[in-house]
Amino acid sequence: MHWSEEIARRIIERNPQKEEYVCAAGVSPSGSVHIGNFRDFATPLFVVKALQKQGKKARLLVSWDEFDRCRKIPANVQAVVGSDYDKYIGCPYVDIPDPWGCHESYAAHFEEEFLKGIAPFGMELDCRYQAEMYRSGKYTKDIIEAIQKRDEIFEILDSFKTKDNSKSEEELKAEHDAEKAVYSPVSIFCPECQTDFTKITAFSEDGTEADYTCRCGHSAHFDFKTNFNCKLGWKVDWAMRWRYEQVDFEPGGKDHAAPTGSYSNSKIISKKIFGYDAPIFQGYEFIGIKGMTGKMSSSSGLNLTPDTLLKLYQPEVLLWLYAKTDPTKAFDICFDDGILRQYFEFDKMLTDCREGRANELTQDIMYNCHVNGREPATVPMALLVQLGSVVNFNVPMLETVFEKIGTP
Ligand SMILES: [Zn+2]
Ligand SMILES: [Zn+2]
Repeated sequence: MHWSEEIARRIIERNPQKEEYVCAAGVSPSGSVHIGNFRDFATPLFVVKALQKQGKKARLLVSWDEFDRCRKIPANVQAVVGSDYDKYIGCPYVDIPDPWGCHESYAAHFEEEFLKGIAPFGMELDCRYQAEMYRSGKYTKDIIEAIQKRDEIFEILDSFKTKDNSKSEEELKAEHDAEKAVYSPVSIFCPECQTDFTKITAFSEDGTEADYTCRCGHSAHFDFKTNFNCKLGWKVDWAMRWRYEQVDFEPGGKDHAAPTGSYSNSKIISKKIFGYDAPIFQGYEFIGIKGMTGKMSSSSGLNLTPDTLLKLYQPEVLLWLYAKTDPTKAFDICFDDGILRQYFEFDKMLTDCREGRANELTQDIMYNCHVNGREPATVPMALLVQLGSVVNFNVPMLETVFEKIGTP
């Protein structure tokens, strides 16, 4: 059984009567979205396809985490703006100007770059823009609920922390109590300096209002019922959105999957605080790069956007790499002759399917990498490379040659 079928089976088993299943992916537009993040889209995409194959309704929900605070400015942005953008650290990505000036915001620039880049895959995405969700007050009830249950949330998060063994029981207890007294599941963005370097000094009894101060000197009263310029801390935010969107499945990088990682935290918050069973989770391995030389390798994949890869790989072949590999296994994107072997293998599987020789697993893999409205043509790769070097990879000439040998 293909791994996506196996996940789909578990999703249905858990909730057989659900009318429509939701498989989620989330991305922070903190910079160029690269091939590593692409696994976050490809994994639920195949699960959606597997659910649909079994006659179920399912969709791929993509969360743009543009309301996240900026932690650091990536190197390729720094190259454009210098250290000028350091002042935006702590601001949500949606409030930072586009470094290139061509979009409404920093976030919009990278969101559009990525969406354009993945257009050739023909994925149907149900996008949620988190700044819009928060700032229109959609989460207000959930935020207040989290504030009211902040002591319980603190205890959950605290239970995952590693304790400092050099400290005595009393010291640890005092530290725990002091942290609990000031813990807030929500951060307020300052109206003066736009950052979240704010500190809540007191909550009202019912948890709907607060007093806060900011690093910049600003201090004010905040009403969560009418002011939406605030955001839940990420592990609480993740759990809250699972319930809000009724998510059934979500993958995440293997760091999230660790026993003390975000998913483990959010899973308990989801159940105990929001009364929602956390979605089925699949941790995935990161992706390797093979055969890259020169300048690009030093940027450790930063420029390897789907757009760049589509210059080398057909959309189907890229999807196929993700589909045939179990999410827990790594594979390489090749910039050397490894790519010829990949094309060769892809062509063989495709031909086997078309000629009815393929086993079930191969059929599932090829089903997953099918792009709506496209029928990939296979070419004899070895011959293409041989003849290509003869005609210096002149495309019209190659097409003529291939037409003559009966492989248009
Ligand atoms: Zn732009
Ligand atoms: Zn401020």
